[in-house]
Amino acid sequence: MLSVILPAYNEEKMIQKASAEIDRILTAEQIDYEIVFVNDGSKDHTWEEIEKAARGNPHVTAVSFSRNFGKESAMLAGLAEARGDCCAVMDCDLQHPPETLVEMYRLWEQGYEVIEGVKRTRGKESAMHRMSAGLFYKMISKAVKIDMSRASDFKLLDRRAVDALLSLPERNVFFRALSSWIGFRTTSVEFDVQERTEGESKWSTWSLVQYAVRNIAVFSTAALQYVTFAGIAVFVVAILLGIETLVRYFTGHAVEGFTTVILLLLIIGSLVMISLGIIGYYIGKIYEEVKGRPRYLIAKKITKN
Ligand code: UDP
Ligand code: MG
Repeated sequence: MLSVILPAYNEEKMIQKASAEIDRILTAEQIDYEIVFVNDGSKDHTWEEIEKAARGNPHVTAVSFSRNFGKESAMLAGLAEARGDCCAVMDCDLQHPPETLVEMYRLWEQGYEVIEGVKRTRGKESAMHRMSAGLFYKMISKAVKIDMSRASDFKLLDRRAVDALLSLPERNVFFRALSSWIGFRTTSVEFDVQERTEGESKWSTWSLVQYAVRNIAVFSTAALQYVTFAGIAVFVVAILLGIETLVRYFTGHAVEGFTTVILLLLIIGSLVMISLGIIGYYIGKIYEEVKGRPRYLIAKKITKN
């Protein structure tokens, strides 16, 4: 059985469409499936819509969070609830085409364990969005050492890969990169990002920046190494300036150089502050991990036997 996991946050208009569309395509292909909706603390009527969909279709199950925990948590909750021999995660705004699901399923039948959806085109976006996404993927690809420029959250995972993912103890997860990190027999399928027909994207530029910073810190310690590099660079300058200062002292022109002093104070001061900030951010993440709070809390469930 194939489990299709659909995280939904304020998607009341998309629930029926998504479940009908997936049902139509998978039934036509004679693929046994279940749909797992994860209501990520929506403030609109998403949950009522999900209940309605579940009444109309015996394949629909769902969980509802006690509040908004974010898409990463929603995807993991869906994977934890899913019963299928393989699980697919996709957006419930149908920007990930359900036809590709069939393609992924066929590859799974051939023995692949991780099938990554790769964006052929990014669909319609504002220039600002495109630019910030581009910058983010450049940084993140460097940090995780995997080319992520076209990666998406649209994936199909074998039961073994799902169990491996769920066994990871960390609270702060970055699903997109973790699915490569776990390894297994991997392949990819290209798809075109569709246009959103209803509702709007949940991402503002600022939330994308936060998402980028968080995921770089969560997945890599590269930023900490930049602190060391900055320190080394400043140290080299310090040696040069130190030699100059000593030479001046011994040749008897010691009083000049007030501008240099101010500049040095400013540069070193800001570098130290930025470095402390980076270290502080990592400590914050360690603190979150150490507290060991659950990734999400479930308030309601719809199960089928
Ligand atoms: N989503 C979620 N929790 C959130 C934000 C988004 O579960 O806090 C879901 C949303 O309902 C959708 C998917 O994640 O199914 C992708 O969100 P969106 O379409 O806003 O992102 P975009 O396609 O613009 O990257
Ligand atoms: Mg979307």
